[in-house]
Amino acid sequence: MSDTIFSKIINREIEADIVHEDDRCLAFRDIAPQAPLHVLVIPKKPIDMLVNATDDDEALLGHLMLVARRIARDEGYGDAFRLVMNNGAAVGQSVFHIHLHVLGGREFDWPPG
Ligand code: 5GP
Repeated sequence: MSDTIFSKIINREIEADIVHEDDRCLAFRDIAPQAPLHVLVIPKKPIDMLVNATDDDEALLGHLMLVARRIARDEGYGDAFRLVMNNGAAVGQSVFHIHLHVLGGREFDWPPG
């Protein structure tokens, strides 16, 4: 997998407003927030798209969700937040290093646009 802007954030080659880091993942505020809370949770392991994750990534993917939940709770949105993961350019994926969007603090439409 080629380097993305997110690997550069992991390696501290470019700056980000980091809200969580552990041995398996990093979470930082989106540069173009779409809601009062908009954090991206990414694995340190570079996986370009969810469709290319393997069974070996099961625990890692679960970890991303639990970290996302904790961030939403710690930021005061534990009762109402949305997680989004785009898979593929056709549905809006623009950075090919998987990431969970953690969104909260405003109303969201359903179905999503
Ligand atoms: P996607 O469109 O792939 O689902 O989401 C990529 C997200 O990464 C977008 O919401 C975009 O604003 C965010 N993003 C792109 N480049 C940067 C960056 O350099 N720093 C940060 N913090 N977020 C970025």
